[in-house]
Formats: sequence, C-alpha cells, structure tokens
Amino acid sequence: MLGQMMDTPLLIKNLASHAERNHGFQEIVSVAVDNDRHRYTFNEALSRSRKVSNLLDRLNCASDARIATLAWNDYRHVELYYGVSCSGRVLHTVNPRLFPEQLIYILNHAEDEFVFFDVAFTKLLESIASDCPSVKGYVALAPRSCMPDSNLPNLMCYEDLLAKESSDYDWPDLDENTASGLCYTSGTTGNPKGVLYSHRSTVLHTYGMCMPDAASLSAQDVILPVVPMFHVNAWGYPYAGMMVGAKIVLPGPKLGDAETLVSLINEEGATIAGGVPTVWLPLLEYLKNTKKEIKTLTRTVIGGSACPLSMMEEFRDNYGVRVLHGWGMTEMSPVGVVNTPNARTSGLIGDELKTHLVKQGRALPGVEIKITDEDNRSLPWDGIKFGALKVRGPWVCSGYYRVKNSDAHQSDGWFDTGDVATIDINGCVKITDRTKDVIKSGGEWISSIELENVGMSYPGVRECAVVGMAHAKWQERPLLVVVAKNSSEDFSVAQFLSFFEGKVAKWWIPNDAIFVSELPHTATGKVSKLLLRESLEGYKFPDDN
Ligand code: AMP
Repeated sequence: MLGQMMDTPLLIKNLASHAERNHGFQEIVSVAVDNDRHRYTFNEALSRSRKVSNLLDRLNCASDARIATLAWNDYRHVELYYGVSCSGRVLHTVNPRLFPEQLIYILNHAEDEFVFFDVAFTKLLESIASDCPSVKGYVALAPRSCMPDSNLPNLMCYEDLLAKESSDYDWPDLDENTASGLCYTSGTTGNPKGVLYSHRSTVLHTYGMCMPDAASLSAQDVILPVVPMFHVNAWGYPYAGMMVGAKIVLPGPKLGDAETLVSLINEEGATIAGGVPTVWLPLLEYLKNTKKEIKTLTRTVIGGSACPLSMMEEFRDNYGVRVLHGWGMTEMSPVGVVNTPNARTSGLIGDELKTHLVKQGRALPGVEIKITDEDNRSLPWDGIKFGALKVRGPWVCSGYYRVKNSDAHQSDGWFDTGDVATIDINGCVKITDRTKDVIKSGGEWISSIELENVGMSYPGVRECAVVGMAHAKWQERPLLVVVAKNSSEDFSVAQFLSFFEGKVAKWWIPNDAIFVSELPHTATGKVSKLLLRESLEGYKFPDDN
C-alpha cells in the first residue's frame, strides 16, 4: 500500500521561494570586484536570479545547457547558482586553480555553452578560449566600468545584460532528478571526473547540512563560507543559508586574505565559517600577530583534508571557536560525516578527548558508511581495523558524467571513496589515508594522517606531510617533510623525531625529517602527495644502506 502524502518534488526553486516568503529581508554581503562591501537582500538576489534565467532563454541556451562559472564567492555567483539551476540548466562551477589543460578538458567534456567569469580570470580564459569550441560566449561578472579589455570571443557584460531582463520568471516544475549542478573532481591522476548533482540531491544535502549534529544552521547565524563556490557548491552554504534565513557573507577574491576575513567576521558578526585547514593557517597567524579577536564566531567547519589537533586547540583555547571537523568529497555533494559529540563522547577529557577530536565524525542521516577488507567483507566498527571506506545515499553520485564504467562505483550499489578509515563504536570515522598514500612498512599499514597530526603539534611547525619512501629492509618507511613557521628556525631532526615517542606506535615513527620552504598543493588546497613524492625522487633514508 502506498502512503497518501503529497509527492512534492525536491527542487532548488522551493528553497528559494521559502526564502523569499519567510526571510526575504535577510542580507547577502559580498566583497566584489567593484565594491568592497556590497550588500542586498535575499529578495533582491533572487529577483536578479530570475533575470539570469530570462537571459539564458534570450541567449538561446538549450533547456539542459551546461553553463560554466569561473568565479569567486560573491553575490553575482549566488545569482547564477539559482538562476541557472532553477531554469533547468546545469550550473558547472569550474575551479580556476586547475591547470589550463584540465580546464580545456572539462569545458569540452561538459560542452559548456557560456562561461560567466570574474574579470580576474580574463587572461586565463583568453589562453584557452580557442580550444573550447562549444562555448558560444563569455559573460564578465562586472559592470560596464570594470569590463576587461579583452579579445575573448563574444564577450558580454553581465550588468548590461541583466539591466535588459525582466525579473518575472516562472521557474518550471522540474522532475526532482533533473541535473542542477556539475563539479569536476580535481583528480591527481588521469582526467578530472564530472559529478552531476540533481535538484533532489542538492535539497537533501542542504537539509543534512543544517541538522544540529552537522553545521547546525539557523536563521540567527551569519555564515562566512571560506570554501570556494567554485568547488562542490561551497559545501552547500549558498543553499543552506538561503533555506534557513542566515545572513551570508562572501569574501569574493579576498578568500585567502586573513585581514579581510577577520574584518568580515568582526564587522558582519559571522557566527560560523567553513574552509580547508590551509585557509585557517594564515588567519590564525594573523590573529596572533595582530592580537585581534573574532568574538562572534562560535564554530567553524573544517574539512577537505585532516584538521590538525593543534589547529582545533588554538581555535578553542585562544578564540572560543569550536571546530567541527568534517569529511566528504565532491562525489558526496560534499558532506558525509561531521564530528559532533554524542551522549558517550560529550564528557571526554584529556587524551581521550584529543584522540576523539582528530576523528572526522559520524555519518549524517542519509549517508550510509562501511569499511571493508580486500575481499569486500565489512570490517567491525571497533576503531582499530581499517579498510576501504564505502558510502551510499541520496547525495552520493551514482556514476561519473559521461563515463561508462567507474571502478569506484561497485555493482552492489556502494561507492568506494578511495579513502582508508577506521570506524569506532560510536560510528565515528577516522580517515587514515587516501588508498594510494597508505604507507606499507614490512607489510603493515602506517597512517600518514596520524603522523602529520603529531608533527603539526611540534612547536614552530607551519605545515607538514608524511609520505612513504622506499626502504630496502621495510619496503617503505615514513618520511616527514616539514615547513617551518620561521625559516631561520633551527630544528634538530633527532629531537623532532623523539617528540613522536609515546604518541604513536614506536615502529610508526618516521625514519627521517627534512625541511622545505613550501609543500605542493592541489587546486583544492590539499597537500599534493603525488607532486611531493615526485620532488623527493632519489631521496634515500640515512639508515638505508
Ligand atoms: P574533494 O573531492 O576535492 O573534496 O576531496 C575529497 C577527499 O579529501 C576525500 O576523499 C579525502 O581524501 C579528503 N578529505 C576530505 N575531508 C577530509 C578530512 N577531514 N580529513 C582527511 N581527509 C579529508
């Protein structure tokens, strides 16, 4: 027997109309190319989004056209998030930090019809435009006064175009499984793979994100997404903020500028932020050097790569900010697990608390998780056994865009994340490595992430990474690669390595530490272990004869 409840489709336009009816007065504040503090209301944003939908019709875009954006976090990008998807087209957010050949690959693979871009990316687009034949035109996200002097084919001015459009647009009642967004993974090997989000997956992920044991978003929050809108929808904040009625503060091109971030937090009263660990390092350094405070911020979601314990402690102890450690991936819209306390863990103190905090957290309702051994047998949730982390759920991708078969999508319906993890009795996931970064010493696995956590808590360390390097006796041993906060700092390798004693199993302690001026990062701000290993070619451990 079927239930008798209304079969209302889950559509992004419904988030928008809820926002308009209930908190249309709420503000979006942005740093933008032509204004360092632009502010307007949700109602104004969504009325311009309807103009965007009219514009796409006028430009004769196909009903399922992929529309690319190369843009920072600002209000014009928000307008595209809603105007493109709610009209039935697919918002293809493109990461401008990708290599030009990757950009060419994905613009062609997606067959994008138009590219909406921030003027800062004009040169980049000029260098690839002739290799992107599907693109019919380029729309600069700027007023006429800021238009770039450029030879981009069919270059148009966003503000001029919008000025001609009506803000009346009846967004269609789409099938909830209609594609709404497209984001390519920044795979370190092979071509990037496209993840095609639907209206349904986006709405469900938005609900998931707002839950109390996730980001716990409410109408009283002021959200500062420091995670870029060009990668996995800025973790869903532009949808979540609109849905719950939280003020949204967008740092525009100043996403990496600690001074701007601190003034936005203080002047706009940000209560929650979100970003990868690498954006918080300079912010914490800036706060320490200037002795400024961030009193309104109560919590920040940190994920994308493992958040070091030292960073969580600095936020908590010096600024009263709770770090919500989370894990996810492009293929998961992206949020999968968030570390919030439950009845068993809320009272933890001392070392037990530290051990718990570095875990990535519990699955959001809607996300199923398991770890398996090499024969795809489920492993126990004992916090000790580690295996391949697999997931499934309504906001996990079921395949890659225009890819016939993917090894990650298994015939039993689970998606293999490519991460290795343990899960404890509380369902708390701890990521130990990417499968390809696991260090195998004498047949046993060593977690590079755990070692990095210890390394990060050593005084004077700005960033560190651990990679497995060849060793004649053990096949592989861990090597610690360190960036010092102060380049003139004189570290003793022996002292540094002895710091690991008692903190990890003795046989996990790295055999050596080397110091470098910086670590290579991927387009999404993670340490690129592939490039790091390449740069270390020829390295030999001192004890490897
Ligand atoms: P992306 O698709 O670019 O968002 O990258 C997803 C990958 O980032 C995951 O598969 C993990 O390897 C890594 N990742 C994300 N969050 C964390 C975290 N909190 N700790 C460790 N690794 C993480």
